[in-house]
Amino acid sequence: VLGPVWGPFDYLPPDPLPEHTLCVGMRVSVPFGKKSAPAIGVITGINSDSHCPTDKLKRVIAILDTVPILPASLFRLSEWLHHYYHCPPGEAWNLFFPKRLRSGKPNEWPKRAGQKKQQPSTTTLTAPPQSPALTLNADQITAINTITGALKKFHAFLLEGVTGSGKTEVYLQMIEAVIQKGQQALILVPEIALTPQTLSRFQARFSCPLAVLHSGVSEATRFYHWKMAAEGLAPIVIGTRSAAFVPLKNPGLFVVDEEHDLSFKQHSGVRYAARDVLMMRASIEKCPIVLGSATPSLESLYNVQQQKYTLVSLPNRSGLAQAPTVRLVNPRNEKTVSGISETLKRKIAEHLGKHRQVLLFLNRRGYATVLFCQSCGWKARCKRCDAHLVYHHKKNCLKCHHCLSTTALPTSCPDCQATPLKPVGVGTEKVENILLEWFPDYPIVRIDRDVIQHPEALQDALTQIHTGAPLIILGTQMISKGHHFKNVTLAGIVDIDAAFFSADFRSQERLGQLIVQVGGRAGRAEHAGEVLLQTHFPEHLLLTTLLQSGYTAFAKALLAERKLMALPPFSHHILWQAESKHPQRAIDFLSWIKDKSQQLTEAKHMDPPADLQILGPIPALMEKRIGHYRAQLIIQTQDRKNLHIWVKHLLAQVQTSPIRTTARWVVNTDPQEVL
Ligand code: ADP
Ligand code: ZN
Ligand code: ZN
Repeated sequence: VLGPVWGPFDYLPPDPLPEHTLCVGMRVSVPFGKKSAPAIGVITGINSDSHCPTDKLKRVIAILDTVPILPASLFRLSEWLHHYYHCPPGEAWNLFFPKRLRSGKPNEWPKRAGQKKQQPSTTTLTAPPQSPALTLNADQITAINTITGALKKFHAFLLEGVTGSGKTEVYLQMIEAVIQKGQQALILVPEIALTPQTLSRFQARFSCPLAVLHSGVSEATRFYHWKMAAEGLAPIVIGTRSAAFVPLKNPGLFVVDEEHDLSFKQHSGVRYAARDVLMMRASIEKCPIVLGSATPSLESLYNVQQQKYTLVSLPNRSGLAQAPTVRLVNPRNEKTVSGISETLKRKIAEHLGKHRQVLLFLNRRGYATVLFCQSCGWKARCKRCDAHLVYHHKKNCLKCHHCLSTTALPTSCPDCQATPLKPVGVGTEKVENILLEWFPDYPIVRIDRDVIQHPEALQDALTQIHTGAPLIILGTQMISKGHHFKNVTLAGIVDIDAAFFSADFRSQERLGQLIVQVGGRAGRAEHAGEVLLQTHFPEHLLLTTLLQSGYTAFAKALLAERKLMALPPFSHHILWQAESKHPQRAIDFLSWIKDKSQQLTEAKHMDPPADLQILGPIPALMEKRIGHYRAQLIIQTQDRKNLHIWVKHLLAQVQTSPIRTTARWVVNTDPQEVL
């Protein structure tokens, strides 16, 4: 039954039977639970008997399809999802269906605005390509030959190449080869709304229909594209993480661009990682898969070391672009205003003076990160979260970036009545103000979630940047991804220091990726680029490794550290997360699981993985969020197979105990962030 319910459940066939045969993979409507409306389910097996007495069995109300709605390969993938991510089978199935199929509507071509319900004809969709294939350089040729030599079977490749080395061109020409053979290519990208350029390069290159799947389009359009993919009418399918589940009639190649990106991991419902799902799918569908990145994840580099993936490198920037030079600046040693050091200020002026663009990265929105009372030390905090409220100057309010609540600015300190309250810490809004003051003749394009609230606003910002006129781009994470800014020659990273103190063991990996990705935005065309990094720790070993020896050496050093500490990818984590409005219940729930694991081990009915470690329960880093107290338990071992078996046993224990309902909880396989 579709939805977050465990199963499968037994039903009798409908009466009368439909004329067509019943098959696994057809949708059905069934009575379920106390609800009067029927539920939608999928036939997962057909048997001649049941462990339920026949007179207790209910009947299927209707069979909704005449043929299985998904290929058998995806049926297997859904089984894997259920076992690997420990989610209810119905929730795994749900991932494969667009909303209208989940709600039981017929699997027919939708009406498009002003058109009849019909299957599109391929001829009306084709337009001649406007941008021909480029002549490849030697590295690109080697990359393409290596990968196309492995078509029609499962093989994983890691395509590592600095920003601007021509990875996208390699994808485009590989895809060309695949569609020549009459097969389909599926490409996952982090966020389509953020990278309209990647999409337009695909559209400009190919004359065939492109199915585009992401959340920024209407349900009907999405379904239309889904069907184009499923029925094999779109040779190219491009989408965000959920596109990993789209059925393809004739899969020939999978690509995950920016494979290290965090947005491939789902943070609600089934905690899947789209890259890993697609890897499993590739092995089931016997298809090659290419993971591309300038800054591959440690997981993928480890898989190369283990010879599970073949490494293909594009070591040089293509065409005229040069690698940027990187410089560290310690703001402690200079006059620094609103987080911008004297050197950075001078560099900005210099590049603008040469009619170039400047990009500044700061991962904090708002004006000041804390509002602070100088006489008693009071700080504005959110009542529902363990977090400081961020001061937003223009809107003159305090915002919580976690529960999104907004409060008016207090005129005096609520504790000691002193005035004025002092905003401390630097956010993008504050930097924007000082830049406006220093560089009044140049536009400042701010890109963060406060100013960019819909795709059109981003499009406007990008259009302004693409005019090439000298200006300053100031933004958060949103600007670090895949954009081609031809005239940017200076990238300034305002503050990275928080990463050195983070309790998350992945924070340094992410920092290295971020520096390389932001740096990669500078000097993409014929002008040499420069990167300026502000930090109070310019001698930090990891930073110097990154800057002197490059990302590969940096990643190697991090991998050695992880190995020493037996952290992923040298072990596997399953995070059991719990939360409750009651301060103690989440911890109690997780302690119960830990005790259960101990009892099961002592009872010796079965053995846990030999090196099993259960770490916690501990309160989450931000214990209180949106009024809920959160805690977590990490289950760690090197024995992945037995880890999943053990967690299955624990889950079975939870589900048959009243403890089940004492807290909200979820199992998160391969967590990417600590809470
Ligand atoms: P990446 O995806 O690695 O960032 P791209 O494929 O976007 O790199 O290439 C960067 C730039 O170099 C683009 O403007 C692209 O058109 C150009 N380019 C790529 N390959 C070649 C080539 N073989 N010859 C000339 N220009 C190329
Ligand atoms: Zn005070
Ligand atoms: Zn809050």
